[in-house]
Amino acid sequence: MLSALGLEGEALARGGSVVGLEAKTRGGRAVLDLAYADLHPRAHGLGIRRGVLFDLLHGRLKRSPARLMTGSEIIDVVREHGRAVVIDSELERHGPFDLAVIADGAHSAIRRRLMPDAPQRIYPWGCIWTTVKDSVGLDTGVLGQRVDGTRVMMGLLPVGNGELTFFWSLPTVDLAPEAPLDLAGMHRTAVALWPEASRLVADAIVVNDFARATYRDVALPQWNDGPILFIGDAAHGTSPQLGQGANLGLIDAWTLARVLEASRTVADAIGRFAERRSATVRFYRQASHLLTPFFQSNLAPLGWLRDAFMIFACRLPVLRPMAATTLAGTRSGWLSSVPLDGEGRYRLT
Ligand SMILES: Cc1cc2nc3c(=O)[nH]c(=O)nc-3n(C[C@H](O)[C@H](O)[C@H](O)COP(=O)(O)OP(=O)(O)OC[C@H]3O[C@@H](n4cnc5c(N)ncnc54)[C@H](O)[C@@H]3O)c2cc1C
Repeated sequence: MLSALGLEGEALARGGSVVGLEAKTRGGRAVLDLAYADLHPRAHGLGIRRGVLFDLLHGRLKRSPARLMTGSEIIDVVREHGRAVVIDSELERHGPFDLAVIADGAHSAIRRRLMPDAPQRIYPWGCIWTTVKDSVGLDTGVLGQRVDGTRVMMGLLPVGNGELTFFWSLPTVDLAPEAPLDLAGMHRTAVALWPEASRLVADAIVVNDFARATYRDVALPQWNDGPILFIGDAAHGTSPQLGQGANLGLIDAWTLARVLEASRTVADAIGRFAERRSATVRFYRQASHLLTPFFQSNLAPLGWLRDAFMIFACRLPVLRPMAATTLAGTRSGWLSSVPLDGEGRYRLT
């Protein structure tokens, strides 16, 4: 999608190309080992900081005729005569609009008000993360993870500019905004888990600029409430285990623009949008939900199963392509995936 918006070159210059994913146990046993090149010699992922991705999309938006209003907290969206009225925290009304697209993230307050009965439970585990200089040359172009049982997980993702994003799994109860972080304990465990990364962890602790992330598993019964449409994490929050949330949100936005161009009415466009996106997001939600407890939970036996069998699944001729297409974001269901284009890119339709 970044390529279609003319942003691919800048994204690669300001981010980092990612060639695959590996996970190892504390003892060095491989758990996951996947490569994008299995799908196409030129296929790769993109590691990019949120702020950089935002900058790119924001810059592109400024070159479009869209009018952007910032600094507004939206507290409600209501239906009036079949149209949507957006209300901000100053109680100012905006609209009515033919369509309101709600993209306020996994913890969407608007979704919780409009669709209170939809499953949207918080996962019992989340993480802290920050971005550090790669002072020890650990960047091999691979998203690396180290695990010890299901209660210890650490990852390093190359994000370009000589930087790595470091993440550390923690129970959600320890991630409350006021809860103190046990950084010294984290350092001790991390040194034993991934000795080569101990300096990076120490650097991260000195800067102490950790973001706290909790995840939700969101399953809406439908994408919209009349002219109010949910996209991105607001519609289908998952745990980030498969690293697909931003991808899914971007492709939601792309698809919505295409169906709006091609439809005579908004209702028709929403129908087509749901038809085109539902199977893919259902797959990623279900797969993330299934996989997450093997990496982040209190269920120790799942860790034993993961350590014993997952690497074989990565090597089996039937399962390896499925795992690689899952990682590349091209699955369109449990039994199907979208082929990459001739350049090894996701094929947008
Ligand atoms: C630790 C972690 C690692 C991840 N790794 C990956 C990865 O490797 N690959 C990947 O593709 N995805 C990854 N994700 C998922 C990705 O971050 C999300 O899927 C993505 O950010 C969702 O985008 P969104 O625009 O739907 O929501 P968000 O990015 O959450 O944006 C929502 C926006 O709405 C604004 N907002 C919220 N409420 C209001 C309101 N009331 N009024 C006005 N504005 C409001 C917020 O300020 C925010 O800017 C990861 C997530 C986490 C937590």
